[in-house]
Amino acid sequence: MTNRNTSSKMDYDVRGHLTEVRAGLPDGVRLVAISKYHPNEYIEAAYAEGQRIFGESHEQELRQKHETLPKDIEWHFIGHLQTNKVKYIASYINMIETVDSLKLLREIDKHAARNNRVIDVLLELHIAEEETKYGLTPDACRQLLADGEWRKLEHVRICGLMMMASYVDDENRIRSEFCLARNLFDEIKAQYFADKPSFKERSWGMSHDYPIAVEEGSTMVRVGTAIFGPRVY
Ligand SMILES: *Cc1c(COP(=O)(O)O)cnc(C)c1O
Repeated sequence: MTNRNTSSKMDYDVRGHLTEVRAGLPDGVRLVAISKYHPNEYIEAAYAEGQRIFGESHEQELRQKHETLPKDIEWHFIGHLQTNKVKYIASYINMIETVDSLKLLREIDKHAARNNRVIDVLLELHIAEEETKYGLTPDACRQLLADGEWRKLEHVRICGLMMMASYVDDENRIRSEFCLARNLFDEIKAQYFADKPSFKERSWGMSHDYPIAVEEGSTMVRVGTAIFGPRVY
C-alpha cells in the first residue's frame, strides 16, 4: 500500500510504472496521467520523466495542485463539473473532458470568454450499463449537436468524445462499448466536424482496459492506478 505521509522518500515506483504504461502505447496515443487523490510528489516523479498531461476530477484538489506544481503541466478535468465551479478553472484548464449538457457548455464558453481563451472540451458519453447520472446517451449527444446552439459558442472548441466502459471482466462487452463509441465518433465527425481537424480525440481506456481501448481506436487514455498505485481516499 502507498503511504501518503512520507515526506521525502517515494515508496511507490511511479517512474517504473509510468515507463511500463508508456511502452504499451503506440505513437499517436496520448497518455493522461490521472493523479486524483495522489500527492504532489507522485506527480513530480512523473513530471521528471517527461509526463506533462495530468487529469484531476475535483476542482479544489486541482486548484491546489495547479498553484503549487510546474506551470507547463497540461491539466485535464475528468470529473463531474458543476456549473458553479467552472469559473475557478477557466483561466488555466487545458481540456474539460466531461461536458454532458448544453448548460455546462454555455457556462464554460462564458468563463472562457471572460479569460480571453478558447477552452477545449470533449463530450462525455454514457454507454456503460452502470447507473450514473453523468454523460450523454448517444441520442442525447446527437440531439445536443443537432440543436446547433454550440456553433455560436466561440470560446469552446469541441475536440471529440470521452467515455468510460463498464467496469467488468468481460472483454467482449468492453470492446463492444468502445466500438459503439468509435462508430458514434465517426458519425458525428462526418456530420458536423468533417472540416475541423481539431475534432479528433477519442478519450477512452483506463488502467484495467486501456490495451483494449487502444485496439479500438482510442487517441487518449486516462490511466491512474496503473501509474500511481491504489488511491487512498
Ligand atoms: C479515476 C478516473 C480514471 C482513472 O482510473 P484508473 O482505473 O485509476 O486508471 C479515468 N477516467 C476517469 C473519468 C476517472 O474518473
